[in-house]
Amino acid sequence: MEKNNLYITELIDKCTNCGNCRIVCPVFKISGEEIYSTRGRINLVKGYLSGDINTSKELREKLFVCLNCRQCLEFCPADVEYSEIIKNAKSRLISRNKIFDIKRSILEGIFSFKPSSSDIFFMLLRKSGHMLYKNHSLNYFGKTIFRLAGINLAAKIPEIPVGNFFNMGIRHETKNDRGIRIALFTGCGGKYLYPECTDNFVRIVRSKGIEILIPKNQVCCGNPLSYKGLLKSADKNINANTKAFNSLIDIKLIVSLCPEAGNLFKELNSEDPKLSLRLPVKNWIEFISEYKIEFAPKYDNSVLFHSCPGCGHTDLYKDLVNTIYADYTKVPDFTADFCGCTELLDRSNYDIRHKIARSFYEKNCMGKADYVICSSFECIEHLNEFFTSSNLPVRAIHFF
Ligand code: SF4
Ligand code: SF4
Repeated sequence: MEKNNLYITELIDKCTNCGNCRIVCPVFKISGEEIYSTRGRINLVKGYLSGDINTSKELREKLFVCLNCRQCLEFCPADVEYSEIIKNAKSRLISRNKIFDIKRSILEGIFSFKPSSSDIFFMLLRKSGHMLYKNHSLNYFGKTIFRLAGINLAAKIPEIPVGNFFNMGIRHETKNDRGIRIALFTGCGGKYLYPECTDNFVRIVRSKGIEILIPKNQVCCGNPLSYKGLLKSADKNINANTKAFNSLIDIKLIVSLCPEAGNLFKELNSEDPKLSLRLPVKNWIEFISEYKIEFAPKYDNSVLFHSCPGCGHTDLYKDLVNTIYADYTKVPDFTADFCGCTELLDRSNYDIRHKIARSFYEKNCMGKADYVICSSFECIEHLNEFFTSSNLPVRAIHFF
């Protein structure tokens, strides 16, 4: 829900202008300009709310170039709720600027709370993505959809797997039952883009005697919508997910395959029952660590493990890597550097994201690796887009 001006102004007033956030803001580090830093954006929003700065293309560009990596939050001594400020500023900006309406409807169509319409939109996107790369005589349609949705034309959408989308709504029973039942939130990545990872995760967890239910009516967590300032639509999605998960019985906890969605669910306001979850939520890494679920390494090749700071739990990821390679003479390297992912649906930040990916690639000597194994689907999408468009042979894949 969009908050009122007074509330946002109070959040802004907590900022002491110390500039600490500039040390970590990747967009500032690449551009070197104050206006592209966290502090710069906060001051822009301040001017916008007070009427000193008008709605303009430039204002939109400065606000939307923030990658939502959340690193500045960790470094702010005044605990300024920057995400709340920027989300609300974007919401005001787009609701007062009708030029973004087509984009908004497409995004709402793709990520809307109705699972059937999301299915159709995703299918359409993936089909058009394939047209772009496989059939040049048909690619105009695909390019138009990509452009309208604000998706980068260099983005490569993976093949639709055999059997199309993951079989939702199924209770995956197990033989050596430990009496633990969990509900799985797959996220858009686990449902539409990488259902084979969901399959692998389910297989591994079931083999350890834990039963999994994948609620049928779950929808996109709403993060892509709120990043775009579509706060009302994001709330509808949260509402649909709370309904889908709060109605479950006999379930111990909710596990999220998408770390960003898991973090969002944990932060839900517990005062509003329509927007909060009854069951405890854990990200997949917390669940795997707590229940000591072991699995074999996916690759013997030269690999590098990666998890972005926004996913959190860096120590748990490191421990997991050490555990799964315990019998090997060399444990692969792990990096928690920000790779430039998030906000993938905004083409205006394409150059910044690619510059960050380039420095991530060079700093971590990725030329030597065959695979980068990532904790989040977003990193995989972003890094593979960078690797393929830069003709680099390394590929990003998931832990599962
Ligand atoms: S969320 Fe990331 S990109 Fe955005 S202002 Fe904070 S540090 Fe910079
Ligand atoms: S670190 Fe926090 S208080 Fe300091 S300038 Fe950045 S947002 Fe403001």
